Amino acid sequence: MRLHVVDHPLVAHKLTTLRDERTDSPTFRRLADELVTLLAYEATRDVRTEQVDIRTPVGPTTGVRLSHPRPLVVPILRAGLGMLDGMVRLLPTAEVGFLGMVRDEETLEAKTYATRMPDDLSGRQVYVVDPMLATGGTLVAAIDLLIERGADDVTALCLLAAPEGVEAMERALAGKPVTVVTAAVDERLNERGYIVPGLGDAGDRMYGTVS
Ligand code: URA
Repeated sequence: MRLHVVDHPLVAHKLTTLRDERTDSPTFRRLADELVTLLAYEATRDVRTEQVDIRTPVGPTTGVRLSHPRPLVVPILRAGLGMLDGMVRLLPTAEVGFLGMVRDEETLEAKTYATRMPDDLSGRQVYVVDPMLATGGTLVAAIDLLIERGADDVTALCLLAAPEGVEAMERALAGKPVTVVTAAVDERLNERGYIVPGLGDAGDRMYGTVS
């Protein structure tokens, strides 16, 4: 597994405002969207392309276009939805699948409650989006499922990561074709499984609290 922490002043600036507890939900959603687009630019550095012949108004030339099968973007519901628009803005021809996963707050284990994506992902590049890489349980379960279905290159985009989650993923996904792209790796997880200093509950900050 490869880890790529995007080191860029615009990324750091937007992340700082996201972390700030005074940032309201509309601003949080807008900034998360902008931040994803910046992360997506780095995360798609190895997106597969094929050569294509075209004509400009001046003459013939050769360029590239995204190859087939098209990449698949998979947001993990609920908070991953807030990252979908920013992702497909850069990859408008990508297909989109959905994975509904929830973390049991007692055991911190991930449970899948909805799956909506092709059964056969052979030869597909997949971009899975989930804002917080905390214990790593959700992302490991999601990526295992994608690889079982045949995905041969998986990139996870997370706004923030905890060192514990990165280590758990490295252990569980060693030797697998997986890259994690994030804006920062924070200090640690607290006893409730929240990233410290983090930004709180990403889903609540985006959409308000579900009671
Ligand atoms: N999920 C969140 O939304 N925030 C955290 O800090 C950890 C997991």
